[in-house]
Amino acid sequence: MHFLVTNDDGVSAPGLLALAQEIRKLGKVTIVAPDKNWSASGHVKTMNRPLRVKEVQLNGGFKAFASDGAPSDCVALTILGLLEEKIDFVVSGINPNANLGHDITYSGTVTAAMEGTISNIPSIAISLDAPENHLGALDYSAAARVARLVVEKVIKNDMPNNVFLNVNVPYLPFADIKGFRLTRLGMRVYRDELVRREDPRGRPYYWIGGDAPGGVPEEGTDVGALSSGYVSITPISMDLTAYDYLDYFEKWNIGK
Ligand code: MN
Repeated sequence: MHFLVTNDDGVSAPGLLALAQEIRKLGKVTIVAPDKNWSASGHVKTMNRPLRVKEVQLNGGFKAFASDGAPSDCVALTILGLLEEKIDFVVSGINPNANLGHDITYSGTVTAAMEGTISNIPSIAISLDAPENHLGALDYSAAARVARLVVEKVIKNDMPNNVFLNVNVPYLPFADIKGFRLTRLGMRVYRDELVRREDPRGRPYYWIGGDAPGGVPEEGTDVGALSSGYVSITPISMDLTAYDYLDYFEKWNIGK
């Protein structure tokens, strides 16, 4: 089994290395990741400039490829033939912060898994719910172990077409994690605010700032599971059609 391990925090992020080291126990690992941080870059296909790839050396003797493309570009590049050997599985992470609810549309971690799914390759995204103002190095060992357990389940049971798994892990030692919950996407509460300032030449510029997002810890959701100390596993369909509302829009008689 040949795994592509990627992320959105960049090739030198510790979460990527922790993930690669754990997934290596299941087969061959190739790392292709962005050369810079692409967090919250969404699903990207770079079409108006060439993509460069260079080989880099990570800690622990890992060879990796760093690309100047987005996470989803890294996945596309690899699947389309950067390497001769075909990819059987895409594992994206470990992101240091949770990707819950609407986050999945912003997340480079998640959209890298989407890119694998589009090519019908089983894919998972894995994120750690580390405290926002954590000082010092994060412990990725529990999340890496969770990633391996989930990957093993996917291999044993097969991933349906057009679906991937979005996995979020509470920031706890593995032994303190309460268990695994299959969840639906919950409600994120964004606290974004627009900060307007002036540059030294008097021209305005804008930052989208504000506090880290919160969430509604409703039972059955990803936010709820994480907040009660469980690993959240949300199956995500690439079909975003609002099936519940097809009848509603039918009644509009659009065009009549
Ligand atoms: Mn990130």
